Amino acid sequence: MTANIIDGKQLSSKVKEQVKLAVSQLIKKQIYPGLATIIVGDDAASSIYVKNKGKSAKEVGIKSFQHTLPEYIEEKNLLKLINELNLNDSVDGILVQLPLPRHINSDLVLDSIDPSKDVDGFNLLNAGKIYLSREGVIPCTPLGCLIMLRSIKTELRGKNAVIIGRSNIVGKPMAQLLLNEDCTITIVHSKTNNISEIVKEADIIIAAVGIANFVKAEWVKKGAIVIDVGINRIILDGKNKLVGDVNFNEVKEIASYLSPVPGGVGPMTISCLLMNTVFQCARRNNIDLPNNLTDLF
Ligand code: NAP
Repeated sequence: MTANIIDGKQLSSKVKEQVKLAVSQLIKKQIYPGLATIIVGDDAASSIYVKNKGKSAKEVGIKSFQHTLPEYIEEKNLLKLINELNLNDSVDGILVQLPLPRHINSDLVLDSIDPSKDVDGFNLLNAGKIYLSREGVIPCTPLGCLIMLRSIKTELRGKNAVIIGRSNIVGKPMAQLLLNEDCTITIVHSKTNNISEIVKEADIIIAAVGIANFVKAEWVKKGAIVIDVGINRIILDGKNKLVGDVNFNEVKEIASYLSPVPGGVGPMTISCLLMNTVFQCARRNNIDLPNNLTDLF
């Protein structure tokens, strides 16, 4: 068996097209969605992510406001900027690029974002909504994974899903989303015993560990669906290479569906950020969410 590849690049282009259409519907009503991004410090990878997010926003017609702050900025000044953006009517979404420098309390910063402008779903209120199965903002990466799963038109109900990783930004919300889809979920982490045996039981594997090629072919049940969230930079044959948490070449011979890295979850995360911005903009203006976007769920 060779797995079908879930093409995140192609799927994210489709999502972007729908977002673009929704933005044009809003603009016809004189509503101009805006996304503010904040980056603290000059970490090269984070700067590229934020730049790409701003570029993608512009491509679909969302106004982008980028704020680059020095590494040593005081927490109170970052909070002041967020407060200004909370009060700015041109801004519908506020994204703070993580990780923040150690002297800044990330929880405090994320909780200071107006929940109606939170586009990452990391704010306390929006995080709580997922766990109560209420309508809210779904974190971009797990939402991207869910849309990928939906795209293969598989029945999720009753499936055994194993999520590798329990971070607040990927593992935990992913598990809750799949629970809301009637999957039976197991989360494994660094203290789990016998990971390989647990993963082997999975119909769906979501790998969000941050270790290159962590998931091996012998851990995967024949025909399982595998979504690889990991982004790991390694040096192979003297060259820099981006790889996921799943040993792609091995696992593609076992899985029924597999997402690649690069070109998998990464582009979906950005499209979902744009989608969340449009959702928040529509909600804040008391406009029904555009059908073309809700249909993606
Ligand atoms: P994280 O906060 O570092 O969490 C990693 C998780 O993996 C933790 O729960 C950790 O367990 C677990 N883990 C670490 N070593 C393990 C081991 N040997 N066995 C089992 N579990 C282990 O990372 P994250 O933010 O969730 O990100 C995970 C990966 O996804 C990273 O490669 C990141 O770059 C990538 N990512 C990609 C996107 C995208 O858009 N594609 C978005 C976000 C993240 P403990 O909790 O016990 O420490």
